[in-house]
Amino acid sequence: MQWLRQLFSREKPRIPDEMWRATLNRLPFLQRLSQDDLLRLKGLSEALLARKSFTGAGAFDLTDDIAVQIAAQACLPVLNLTLDLYDDMVGIIIYPAAFVIPQAEMDEAGVVHEWHEPVSGEALDAGGAVVLSWEDAADTDVAGYNVVIHEFAHKLDMANGPPNGFPPFLPAWHRELDAREWQQVFSGAYDDFMHRVEKLERALPEHFDDTDPAHAAMYDDLSADLPLDPYAAKHPAEFFAVASEAFFVLPETLAGAYPDVYRLLSRYYRQDPLSMSQ
Ligand SMILES: [Zn+2]
Repeated sequence: MQWLRQLFSREKPRIPDEMWRATLNRLPFLQRLSQDDLLRLKGLSEALLARKSFTGAGAFDLTDDIAVQIAAQACLPVLNLTLDLYDDMVGIIIYPAAFVIPQAEMDEAGVVHEWHEPVSGEALDAGGAVVLSWEDAADTDVAGYNVVIHEFAHKLDMANGPPNGFPPFLPAWHRELDAREWQQVFSGAYDDFMHRVEKLERALPEHFDDTDPAHAAMYDDLSADLPLDPYAAKHPAEFFAVASEAFFVLPETLAGAYPDVYRLLSRYYRQDPLSMSQ
């Protein structure tokens, strides 16, 4: 983290060109952007690195290189909006691999179940940090999967209250967005996706065990037919975050399955990844 420390002490931090080029090579979905967009993304990433703390946790050796890769992906959603949308975030904490956090969920009988589960990322609300597992964040080869964009989409969603799949509409850019249309389109797509996931679950063996390799392979096979990560069926906020990941890294699939969701996200983010050459 030597360079980052130097960077904080300087007035105008700059990501070295070679490091920036290496970042673009590692993240093929950024190559959709024009030269002008990439230049602005670099400037935003420098601003994020200067404004927020990047901290390694769990003995993680956070290098400048990794911090730049995370910053570039975190800034992609706000490339045509404003970095101020991340004001409500103290910083970014990076663990080497999945980390364990306490979970709680109320069942249909009103009983709260608590357990500990390893997760790949977590966006804490009320001024909290974004926490990432580098092992998962670095794994950008899985179709449509991007932990950094996912967690920062949650941060946007949290900018106007508890996460619900409804990020703040900004008067400067979102005048043509209609809250009712957003609600209708997203809840329609969410319901459709939940049905698809329920159908998948019905096709699984009765005593499904994800630690059984044959069962896990069957699950992977069935979920490969879904247009989004099945995690999107968990909550409308997860649907928004997963759809945002897909919007930036696998737009063809999202636009094919849910064209209206793609259209609204395109207006929200003020980007159209499908129209950009690769
Ligand atoms: Zn999530």
